[in-house]
Amino acid sequence: MMTQPIPLTNLQARDIASVLHPYTPIHKLGEMGPLVIERGEGVYVYDTQGKPYIEGMSGLWCAGLGFGDEEMVEAATAQLRSLPYYHLFGAKGTESAIELAEKLKEIAPMPISKVFFTSSGSEANDTQVKLAWYMNNALGRPDKKKIISRMKAYHGVTVMSASLTGLPYNHMGWDLPVDRVLHTDCPHYYRFGAEGESEAEFVARIVGSLRDLIEREGPDTIAAMIAEPVMGAGGVIVPPAGYYPAIQEVLDEHDIILIDDEVINGFGRTGNWWGCQTLGMKPTTISAAKQLTAAYAPLGAVMVPEDIYQAYVDHSAKIGTFGHGFTYGGHPLGCALGVKAIEIYQRRDILGHVRKLAPVFEKRMRKLADHPLVGEARYCGLVGGVELVADKATRRSFDAKSGVGAQCARFCEAHGAILRGIGDTIALCPPMIITESELEELFDRLEKALDDCEAWVS
Ligand code: PLP
Repeated sequence: MMTQPIPLTNLQARDIASVLHPYTPIHKLGEMGPLVIERGEGVYVYDTQGKPYIEGMSGLWCAGLGFGDEEMVEAATAQLRSLPYYHLFGAKGTESAIELAEKLKEIAPMPISKVFFTSSGSEANDTQVKLAWYMNNALGRPDKKKIISRMKAYHGVTVMSASLTGLPYNHMGWDLPVDRVLHTDCPHYYRFGAEGESEAEFVARIVGSLRDLIEREGPDTIAAMIAEPVMGAGGVIVPPAGYYPAIQEVLDEHDIILIDDEVINGFGRTGNWWGCQTLGMKPTTISAAKQLTAAYAPLGAVMVPEDIYQAYVDHSAKIGTFGHGFTYGGHPLGCALGVKAIEIYQRRDILGHVRKLAPVFEKRMRKLADHPLVGEARYCGLVGGVELVADKATRRSFDAKSGVGAQCARFCEAHGAILRGIGDTIALCPPMIITESELEELFDRLEKALDDCEAWVS
């Protein structure tokens, strides 16, 4: 199908002239739009022409309370009035950072001693790697430094977190990954299960390959493994039952810590506070961001237990200080909004709401699985991925150049739903406050887009 050039509005033209867009095929920006969003309310955002869209991705998996929440606006205003900025360097403190660290310890899935604040998920994961290195230096294990991640993982875009990410477009052209990063199998049975292999056999095989990797590299060279409970930006992949307990055994055997990247899973998305609780994972440390503030301000956090914290203290004593920190890590605005978001999640029982809507989400995902274009519809709580295939029976993917996922996302936009095409997978991650009828409407719009897409590919 030929795409007609679209007339640009003034803002679109100014955007193209001046903004370098992240995660955008910038060689096609003129053809694509851009879609300029002006305001948001509830689960809807509105473009500059006033057209409403259901924001079915919570922005970037983050706006869990939707848009325009007055309580959040008030909390932000109050914080900006009293203390718009301060930092935590050199033993300074702010009430909002103290309160948020206490809150996080209260809701953590395991005993946590300290919380280190960053401004983003990438910085949190970068910090995790540095902390694992710092810890092993403190413990006199200078060679135990490699980090295991997984193919299709997403952990961010800084030099180290992009190295941990297991997606080709984050490495190609960027001289990544750096040394000390190893990638093991992606736990996606539909795509990587061998012919005739049961799910349990698949788990046994990939856990065996993790063990082989560790033994080949030498356990004394490996500090940590990092994993998102449900993998998000790699295509919403829900690992099979039994996967995490099985890898955990291998890691424990070799004294390798497990870093839990809760940047998407955290704060109710899977129906529990943390994805690790839903998926049966037992983390050593946690990274959080995104729904931590419901995206009303940037903030990330790293949560560590007491024994690991003590290693930092010992090393600080040895070298003179704990030399790490970001100017905006623990920004009072982010921390005040984190405190307020968690209070709202609790008071309005957002987790209960997610659990109540999860069966509706599941019912509609199962229905989508019957669509001729859909190979697999996978989900957990209120996050899902719909993988489009060229041939349902053989699971054959579309040609990489077909751009079917991006095209489907454009059809969604035409029908008033913002969803994301990740390769050939359409991701869904609506604000957790979505009502049942809004959720049904979101799926109705996606179904229309899939029908358009079916006509487009044929
Ligand atoms: N970790 C996960 C699981 C993510 O999904 C993301 C972003 O999507 C990140 C880390 C990076 O977070 P940020 O974009 O805030 O740096």
